Amino acid sequence: PKPIVAIIGRPNVGKSTLFNRITGGRVAIVEDTPGVTRDRLYRDAEWCGRQFTLVDTGGIATHQDDPLVARVRSQAEQALKEADVIIFLVDSRTGITADDEEIAALLRRSDRPVILVANKVEDFSDPTVTHEFYRLGLGDPVPISAAHGLNTGDLLDRVVELL
Ligand code: GDP
Ligand code: MG
Repeated sequence: PKPIVAIIGRPNVGKSTLFNRITGGRVAIVEDTPGVTRDRLYRDAEWCGRQFTLVDTGGIATHQDDPLVARVRSQAEQALKEADVIIFLVDSRTGITADDEEIAALLRRSDRPVILVANKVEDFSDPTVTHEFYRLGLGDPVPISAAHGLNTGDLLDRVVELL
């Protein structure tokens, strides 16, 4: 089996955009796993000859009646169980939210390698835009724009180093 890389983050940070950017519409390899939706949230990906399976945790089924914070936590917990590397995505435009802090606390307690990624950075001339995310205690935030494909190659370099 290929190593699993999971994209974790609260809604709207750009998980699905990054998932599609990295996998480029490759065909899903798992569509009938119990407990997950069938919207192709596991897909094969490859970078520099290294193959892995990417997970978009936003599509993992949770209880719709639960509060958002519980759903986000449950998706992160499920991903932590199976992932070899975690991409923790935050939104550089909104800054740190309570949900981000909750996920960060969960990730700091786990022993999985985590790459903290600040999405929606379209202007790389100001390096301070990602500084506040150091406070999450997960190291250097990697700035990217998933929508425009900016710096996503650097991100993938880091991912495959950890596989
Ligand atoms: P998810 O809920 O985490 O899966 O987030 P989505 O991938 O659905 O994206 C949420 C919103 O953010 C959408 O309107 C996207 O177009 C937008 N978005 C995603 N990535 C970027 C980015 O790099 N830059 C900007 N400006 N918007 C983005
Ligand atoms: Mg999504």
